[in-house]
Amino acid sequence: MNHRTRLAALAAAALAAAPAAAQAPRTHGPLTFAPRPTTGEITAQDLRTRVYQLAADSMMGREAGTRGNVMATDYIAAEARRIGLLPAGEDGTFFQQVPLVRRGVAEGAALRVDGGPALAFGTDFLLVPTYGSVLRFADRFDARGVQVVYGGRVGDEAGMISPQAAAGKLVVFAAPLGPNGQPASQFYAGGRTYERYADAAGVAFATLDYTSPGLAGFFREPRTELAVAAPVEEGPRFPAGLIITTAAAEQLLGTPLAGAQVGAAGRTATGTGAWFERALEFPARNVVAVLPGSDPALRGQYVAIGAHNDHVGMTHEPLDHDSLLAFNRILRPQGLDQEPDAWTDASRAAFQAELARLRALGPARLDSVFNGADDDASGTAGLLEIAQYFASRATAPRRSILFVWHTAEEMGLYGSEYFTDHPTVPLDSIVAQLNVDMIGRGAAGDVAAGGPGYLELVGSRRLSTELGDLVEEVNRTGAHGFAFDYGMDADNHPQNIYCRSDHWNYARYGIPVTFFTTGGHSEYHMLTDEPQYVEFEKLARVVRLVGAVAEAVADRDARLVVDKPRPDPNAPCRQ
Ligand SMILES: [Zn+2]
Repeated sequence: MNHRTRLAALAAAALAAAPAAAQAPRTHGPLTFAPRPTTGEITAQDLRTRVYQLAADSMMGREAGTRGNVMATDYIAAEARRIGLLPAGEDGTFFQQVPLVRRGVAEGAALRVDGGPALAFGTDFLLVPTYGSVLRFADRFDARGVQVVYGGRVGDEAGMISPQAAAGKLVVFAAPLGPNGQPASQFYAGGRTYERYADAAGVAFATLDYTSPGLAGFFREPRTELAVAAPVEEGPRFPAGLIITTAAAEQLLGTPLAGAQVGAAGRTATGTGAWFERALEFPARNVVAVLPGSDPALRGQYVAIGAHNDHVGMTHEPLDHDSLLAFNRILRPQGLDQEPDAWTDASRAAFQAELARLRALGPARLDSVFNGADDDASGTAGLLEIAQYFASRATAPRRSILFVWHTAEEMGLYGSEYFTDHPTVPLDSIVAQLNVDMIGRGAAGDVAAGGPGYLELVGSRRLSTELGDLVEEVNRTGAHGFAFDYGMDADNHPQNIYCRSDHWNYARYGIPVTFFTTGGHSEYHMLTDEPQYVEFEKLARVVRLVGAVAEAVADRDARLVVDKPRPDPNAPCRQ
């Protein structure tokens, strides 16, 4: 018995014991697939051709604003043209450019008590950005030998330092008290109070100790945002804003924070920092195309079908593909949607067994591309298949079909936000939006209730009961064979799926939506989301269902009735 076989035997025992790995070992498709000509039918083979192209390493993870996303959107537009769709983007093209900017703190942000050691950006202090029209902190912090002064507690407006006493100084504020009487992170609880201190050198909130790692990361790391089209309103500005630890506050003041007297002078300090904003290197583009309806009376109305053309790019820290795959299968079955479980003896054995099994199938391979085969090459390819299917038939559906491949979904649903705020067809002519994102998985090893009939529906009755009923009717009468899981659609579900893909931006304008997904899995937002793990036969069945639903909506005599309350399009999403 050689080493590998011995591990495999250990594996068999461990797999039998460990619930996470109780499934039969999965079979995988090939690593690459030579493209074949696609057909007018919606087939697994056509989808294989398209998904392997979209999720190829050469697409470099399709991140919005990168060359890879330009390549992917070029492919989609070329296919749309070849299929015979009409361009419906800007200026007679298939593209709508989505203006994105990169914002962050420039290198070199610094802060120190004069004569003392440097405080570290990211761990001892952060800079606060301007946020909307409410928190209007300055884009630049520049303090040389300025007096530090204690300003009071955030939220205790009456007890705060006077603007005159704060002028030219770095004002340290204690954290606000939360409902439980304990210090809290909400430095913004002071609202526009801080515009009174516009003449201060800066305001520093001692809230960093109470700030979640996620929120701290939000302030620390550069990020991509939609460029604000409207000019920033005139009016009083804030001084520069900082979030600091209690220890940093006490260094700056030279006394314990507890018991500090409002207006009491501390040490002198020197610091600098600036926010930068720059355009991305490459354009980020929605691809927008129309299949005109066959009924002259109805073709001015659209059934929109959407997927997202972007994914999350590449990493500079390559990992061994098989180790990551095995680790996530055993300890992180929802991928990036969960923290990994802690190791146990059983999970360690199961991991070693799974890794041995994968090693037996092929050599080790370093991986650095987030291929996004399921997320969302599966949906992107699905839209092309639906388009080719409709275009190859003698008669198109009665209403027009609007295909939108959104960009920058992964960065914050920016492509669909921009498209619905700047629609290239009248928004009230869109009778429904069917969104597909991650529709190529949902097997027994991916989801507890997974299998060939497993499909999650989200949002289908949140605006129109008729749409929810119609999806079920199409599934039944067309013998599509799905058992819909509405569990993810529950109000206040912790995974918040209703707010996490592009359909939300249509729903906020009162357009009935259905989100189709085969759900999360251990490759979610991992380097391992590759075409070899996509279930192409199932993907083809999901795409046929979505096409049939689109056709059923498009062929109705009457528009779908919206019988539920419409949300406020500018309010945050609530599931
Ligand atoms: Zn994603």
